[in-house]
Amino acid sequence: MSFATGLLCRECGTTYPGEARYSCDICFGPLEVAYDLEAARGKVTRASIKDGPSSIWRYGALLPDPGDEAVDLGAGWTPLRRASRLGEILGLKELWLKDDTRNPTGSFKDRVVSVALSSARRLGFTTAACASTGNLATSVAAHAAFIGWPSVTIIPADLEKSKIAMTAIFGGTVLGVKGNYDDVNRLCVELVAEHPDWAFANVNLRPYYAEGSKTLAFEICEQLGWRTPDQVVVPIASGSQFTKIAKGFHQFLDLGLVEGCAPVLFGAQATGCSPVATAFHDGAEVVTPQRPNTIARSLAIGNPADGPYVLDELRANGGDCGSVPDEEILECIGLLAQSEGVFAETAGGVTIASLRQMIQRGTIDPNKSVVAIISGHGLKTLDAVVETATVSSTISPSLADAEEALRFHQLVTSAS
Ligand SMILES: *Cc1c(COP(=O)(O)O)cnc(C)c1O
Ligand SMILES: [Zn+2]
Repeated sequence: MSFATGLLCRECGTTYPGEARYSCDICFGPLEVAYDLEAARGKVTRASIKDGPSSIWRYGALLPDPGDEAVDLGAGWTPLRRASRLGEILGLKELWLKDDTRNPTGSFKDRVVSVALSSARRLGFTTAACASTGNLATSVAAHAAFIGWPSVTIIPADLEKSKIAMTAIFGGTVLGVKGNYDDVNRLCVELVAEHPDWAFANVNLRPYYAEGSKTLAFEICEQLGWRTPDQVVVPIASGSQFTKIAKGFHQFLDLGLVEGCAPVLFGAQATGCSPVATAFHDGAEVVTPQRPNTIARSLAIGNPADGPYVLDELRANGGDCGSVPDEEILECIGLLAQSEGVFAETAGGVTIASLRQMIQRGTIDPNKSVVAIISGHGLKTLDAVVETATVSSTISPSLADAEEALRFHQLVTSAS
């Protein structure tokens, strides 16, 4: 049972029923899902949540109505890991990693797709589609296969081979567009007009899609023992995840499910695609689009739809936004793997490198708790590390060769 009441314009507050609609008739503003939190108070409890499934659907009361049955491939309820070793290296008292590499298709996108396709099925759609930087396409193709739907996923043609393979394997139609994500997105807005019966997860189903990200905030609170962290570092592409994580913390606080106050949210971007970080640091009112050029392809959105809302949140609560070069992204993928045993894709490198940058400039308080969102698995962006992460030595199968190599790598001393 969902406490969602319908849709609400984020600009002018006009309300609409919970249908397939994504912009306001009156002001063309984006819509979001609204809830009756008054009615939910006392009904959505710690106990009722604990009784739910080990997926995002344990929070189904605070998600859009999935109809008869949610499309649940097992997204969410991923580990929140205490990262003592990495915390010590970075000079932090209490660091946690929200390990979203552990989702069904290896990225946080499974959360938003599970919600989008549940709503799509309730609304009578039968075909799944999306505009994607890679991970969304994979997740849409997988969830469509899971419910026996055809899928049409649209991506930049020059994406990482591993991401294309991970999408194509699910058997849907994958269109590679000669252009960047912003070109793909423009094309999909045109396609929605031609094919209004296709559920584009992040276009005509966007209000529902976006709600899935709130579950990151819900899980973090529950896994910390029903308290809020002090600070959270979130990677930013369109900015949807960032704004909905904020919404999730506020809903839990409003319902009295957690102790504490809303955490300060910090953004993370690659310098090669940092329109939000740039606007934030320039004190600009608007986000100026940028042509992306970074190895962090999953975050390469030059014209972020939620950019203005991210700026508002950053400025209202004393946040900050990192902007990190590709070399540091690669370095921090290694740092995270070597200190904590977690292999992240390039977006995870962006998060850790941004965290380090914001500690260094004093905007993140090292004495307060920090949660870093690790949003995708390293196997998705193997291309980024195959040149540097290689065998230590190549040897013949002889004991003498092995011993020589081990001496070279200082695993045994020459005397032994
Ligand atoms: C899509 C994505 C994000 C964030 O996306 P938003 O558009 O800002 O919600 C973060 N990390 C990974 C790995 C992603 O695929
Ligand atoms: Zn409006």
